[in-house]
Amino acid sequence: MTHSTSILKCPHCGIVLLEKEKHYVCENQHLFDKARQGYVNLLVVNQKKSADPGDNKEMIQSRADFLNKDYYWPLANTLNTLVEKNISDTFPLHIADIGCGEGYYLRKLKSHFSSASPHHYYGVDISKEAIRKAATTSKEIAWFVNSVIALPFLSGSQDILLSVFAPADFVEFSRVLKPSGCLVVCSPQENHLIELRESLFSTVTAIGQEGMMEVKAGEHFNLEETLPLQFNCELNTKKDIKNLLTMTPFYFKSSREQQAKVLALEKLHLTVDVNFWVFRKKGST
Ligand SMILES: [Zn+2]
Repeated sequence: MTHSTSILKCPHCGIVLLEKEKHYVCENQHLFDKARQGYVNLLVVNQKKSADPGDNKEMIQSRADFLNKDYYWPLANTLNTLVEKNISDTFPLHIADIGCGEGYYLRKLKSHFSSASPHHYYGVDISKEAIRKAATTSKEIAWFVNSVIALPFLSGSQDILLSVFAPADFVEFSRVLKPSGCLVVCSPQENHLIELRESLFSTVTAIGQEGMMEVKAGEHFNLEETLPLQFNCELNTKKDIKNLLTMTPFYFKSSREQQAKVLALEKLHLTVDVNFWVFRKKGST
């Protein structure tokens, strides 16, 4: 994908980054090569907390296998509807998914909009494995390895930002959004995957911090809408149950014995409990 007007920002010096065939380059000659798969790694060394940050290959593969069976389709569908409701009628829009993982939700959003609305789509994740996987699934989305705390976009360049089950940096989100821009956040709530957590742990710790999202975003954003979503799915194969376990943070928080109990299950009835927040950048009209 070639952008006639680039909205990308050089992670070293902050000026515009231009796509030139097999690499991206700024006027100060900072050069970033495109990987064979088409993505670009714009993560600079001082943003890395470890040599290989983010979700690992096993987690990414499990998530891809699980999501591609569309167990979370109601979630993607709600996200698509919320975005459609909140976009302006100017085309093309710049739409970025921050913490996109292997890109399931962004691909679903892209296919939701017809090819008659050729928006620009960007997927950003700190995990190189996630972006590598994402890049194999769509060449029409621009994929970047980057940190949420220093996004690879010029200020005021994005129309829509998505943050689904991902760390949020509201200062950075506000910086890269246009004044009319809109942010859609989706986070797990109290009963999210409760059956999995109860199968793993004798004491289930609470997740979801009601009201916290508004507080954290409030300095930079006005809350436009909240939308809770609960639905159930039935996992009927051991493979799907293993994929679910492996893709969640509970995998690393559980012992081998706890995991073995879940991996022995033939079926798992699952509650998905999330909340959506639609935010508008403060000062927008
Ligand atoms: Zn530069």
